[in-house]
Amino acid sequence: MAEDCIFCRIVNKESAAEIVYEDEEIVAFKDIYPAAPVHLLIVPRKHIPTLADVEAGETMLLGRLISVANDLARAYKVDRSGYRVVINCGKEGGQLVYHLHVHLLGGKELSHAIAEGRGA
Ligand code: 5GP
Ligand code: ZN
Repeated sequence: MAEDCIFCRIVNKESAAEIVYEDEEIVAFKDIYPAAPVHLLIVPRKHIPTLADVEAGETMLLGRLISVANDLARAYKVDRSGYRVVINCGKEGGQLVYHLHVHLLGGKELSHAIAEGRGA
């Protein structure tokens, strides 16, 4: 637990969030500023600042975060229409909250983020 980390506070129920899933190592909740009709954040209970900080012994956890995103995509009925799973890493990766999290976005036609980076 990092004292000044908002996601640690949410995981520990010290700050409010609309939690949609939790188990012994993962918590998922609604993004406070949704960028799509379905916008969930899937986070490990453990405070890992960024994707780059994931250690060799923790790769199973990464798999589980994606697997929970898949389960939630089904639960929120965007599995057939399609969805996006995103991990922003570090400043130039657009990360704002330094507690590892996976975004699950769906429920609308999302812009082609990679093509936009090319100026498309
Ligand atoms: P990042 O840019 O770090 O990948 O994304 C952080 C996300 O966390 C943003 O989409 C932002 O809206 C969301 N967020 C930031 N603070 C809070 C909060 O206190 N509660 C919830 N539910 N989401 C938050
Ligand atoms: Zn944290």
